[in-house]
Amino acid sequence: MQVSTALSTLDATCESLQLDDRTKFCMRGQLRAYAEHWDGFNHFGRYKLASINGVTEGIEVELRCNLSDSWRTISYLDKLLVDDFGNLCIMDHKMLSKWDFFPMSTDMRVLHMDPQIRMYQMVCHLNDLPVTHHVHDIAVNLKPSPKVVGPTFLKEIGEHCTYRGHKISEESHDHVMGTEGAKETDEMLEHTVYAALMSKPAKYFGHPRVNMSNDRVCEAAQRLVQITEEIDNRVEEDTHWKNPKHCKAFGKECEYLALCEHSDDPSSANWKPRGESREDSGSHSNRLSHSRVECYLGCPKKHYWRYIYNSTGIVPVAPGDSYYTDRGTAWHAAMDTLYRDNCDSVVVTANELLV
Ligand code: SF4
Repeated sequence: MQVSTALSTLDATCESLQLDDRTKFCMRGQLRAYAEHWDGFNHFGRYKLASINGVTEGIEVELRCNLSDSWRTISYLDKLLVDDFGNLCIMDHKMLSKWDFFPMSTDMRVLHMDPQIRMYQMVCHLNDLPVTHHVHDIAVNLKPSPKVVGPTFLKEIGEHCTYRGHKISEESHDHVMGTEGAKETDEMLEHTVYAALMSKPAKYFGHPRVNMSNDRVCEAAQRLVQITEEIDNRVEEDTHWKNPKHCKAFGKECEYLALCEHSDDPSSANWKPRGESREDSGSHSNRLSHSRVECYLGCPKKHYWRYIYNSTGIVPVAPGDSYYTDRGTAWHAAMDTLYRDNCDSVVVTANELLV
């Protein structure tokens, strides 16, 4: 199991995104535990990484299909893997704060659990793609607070310069040994997280399979078509109702609150046209990504601001709190390196996958 390059990728991404050191070291412990846990199950040996038309760095694949004359759906895969039996598997990496990860609105019954993977399944089904299963690759986060180092560990550090059996820097050694009641350093937290995850790995890592019956797939496809019709009607009639329940959903204030409260104007310098981003690229007219579906079902007014207003939609000039997104980005980058380093590649042609 080669994990050092993935750790370097994680460090570099955390630094470029300016994530704090505590987060970085906790994620390092998580990555080491992840690699060891799945290596124990021979997970990396069981899968090969499917490269598209031989482009090995092309881990991400875009799946598209036409929903109607004017709408297309678009989904990006985290990993496309081939198992021992030649079955194609889509894997989606998820970082969660706990196992219950289905915070969808009731209107998401058809697509519920995870619209992204539902859309993968739908696109595969509608295009007769040979993907046989879909897997959520769950990693539950731990970010413990530094604790005072107890006498047993102080003895270990003093005698061996190790903490929980892992070598630590002189800086950590001196910090702990030099101050009475000193707490764990960030570096030591990495080992604490690793030990906690490895003590109960089934609680923190999992691969639930998510497969829908053909009926459910068709139901999901119909629901997506219905959503595109609803959006077309709203644009035509200029009716984009507000859903105040989402103004402060999940403890976070909606970035469009000032516009809805009329304390700001969409033409002010605080707003800019929504640029082309990977998931949401294109004008309102034809692309339905999973994030757009979530946005629309959460609040049609938010969907209006983000995707419809002034043809392209608008976003705040000042970036919002992106801590969780950045942490997810760093984890995905580390996963890409880990899988590249530890799985063989097989060539799958684009014709087999893309439409
Ligand atoms: S766009 Fe929707 S969620 Fe956002 S502030 Fe307005 S009503 Fe609330």
